[in-house]
Amino acid sequence: MPLLPDLFGAGYLIATLFFIYGLKGLSSPRTALLGNASAMLGMVLAIAIALLSPEVVGYALVFAAIAGGAVIGIVVARKIKMTAMPQLVAALHSFVGITALLVGLGTYLHHVATGQTVSMIVMIELVVGAFVGAITFAGSMIAFGKLQEILPSKPLVFKGQHFLNLVLMLAIGGLGLHFIVTYTLASFLIMILLSLLIGFLLVTPIGGADMPVVISMHNSYSGWAAAATGFILNNQLLIATGALVGSSGAILSYIMCRAMNRALFSVMSGGVGVKSGGDFSVIAQASNQGVKSASAEDAAFLLENARSVIIVPGYGMAVAQAHHAVKDLYEMLLKKGVTVKFAIHPVAGRMPGHMNVLLAESDIPYDCVFTMEDINSEFPTADVALVIGANDVINPAARNVKDSPLYGMPILDVYKARNILISKRSMKPGYSGMDNALFYVSNCSLLFGDAKAMCESITKVMREN
Ligand code: NDP
Repeated sequence: MPLLPDLFGAGYLIATLFFIYGLKGLSSPRTALLGNASAMLGMVLAIAIALLSPEVVGYALVFAAIAGGAVIGIVVARKIKMTAMPQLVAALHSFVGITALLVGLGTYLHHVATGQTVSMIVMIELVVGAFVGAITFAGSMIAFGKLQEILPSKPLVFKGQHFLNLVLMLAIGGLGLHFIVTYTLASFLIMILLSLLIGFLLVTPIGGADMPVVISMHNSYSGWAAAATGFILNNQLLIATGALVGSSGAILSYIMCRAMNRALFSVMSGGVGVKSGGDFSVIAQASNQGVKSASAEDAAFLLENARSVIIVPGYGMAVAQAHHAVKDLYEMLLKKGVTVKFAIHPVAGRMPGHMNVLLAESDIPYDCVFTMEDINSEFPTADVALVIGANDVINPAARNVKDSPLYGMPILDVYKARNILISKRSMKPGYSGMDNALFYVSNCSLLFGDAKAMCESITKVMREN
């Protein structure tokens, strides 16, 4: 047995172990830095081993690509705002997808050009790789468009959509088989085009609020696409890391689906169960009643006279970078003898754990930060629920408006609190695009303005009182 492949195999195995340790480290904020470092080390090792491979015939192009990629990566990483992280992740998933697609196509064309025969197993790998790659690429591009607000975040649903998806899937299956049996390039190309189309159609009907699941699902797909590329290129490391990403993404999707009370199959198959249109009568009724707005002085009075306050942060807190101002407000309330707790919804913000990261950054103690399950029973006894830039995660339509795209998603029971204060800048809806009936209830007042400035003003008033 040749020694060289064994050395490569051993090196790849060590790199894989670094990746596994990296994934484990990322499961807790305390070990996340170490996890990241481990994954980076694994990647350096993987690249070094790949470069030593005898198949790498020239280094100039490879190093030029690495240098170009590194420069772009550094610039993007330094410039990207924390709030734009999900669209960056979606864009990166699309790169994996298009790579898998191009590797599949390139491998086939290379075999044809060099007159080599392609084995049946390689043909199957090409079809699977191109299919998963195309779905990942097209779906991730749509997710990117929705998150970047280039495309509307509302579900795009039309009649006969699921039937069309079924027909497309059957056609893709038929063309894939035809390509495997007959080696007809045209079948392969049409199959790729249809796979791109289905990737597009599977994400357009998914509403803004379900985007977290779509992102983690594409994370999983991108892993499987990488694994498929690994099979095509006969590279064990790509297969192993692809499988790691694929399976961890699948587990994350399952966890996100449970948190949002969604069926994984429904989201994967393009929002089966999402209805088009619908009258939001509860919201329409409430809209007629108008909203109450309050000043920083009103809010300070209410808050300092409360016994218990629950603060609910959301995406707006991240946009306003208000977390340090929220910490000052929290400390001021403690000084005034008020019990303060934080309530975190699993999809608040724009990425899993977004709010926890921000609160940790501003040194808010972990023991006053509660998950939705743990705090929901406390809202009825809270004197004030202070909402800082959250909207969808407190929208009662998720409970009582059957036609709402939010319906079925668990929410923080802010509506049960004795008094509700909501900091936001306008009457604009949240990410889902749905109006929020909570704004119009009699015990709710809106604190219009930027969340950071509003929190600072409230703290200032309390300090002066
Ligand atoms: P929403 O997007 O529903 O609402 C954000 C609110 O913040 C809006 O009401 C907005 O109102 C307000 N806001 C924005 N900027 C400011 C500011 N500077 N000062 C004060 N208020 C501000 O956020 P939620 O956190 O409630 O919900 C998250 C949504 O994002 C869910 O639909 C979730 O499914 C989705 N999502 C979550 C992901 C995740 O992994 N966590 C990933 C992708 C999507 P106004 O403009 O009037 O100020």
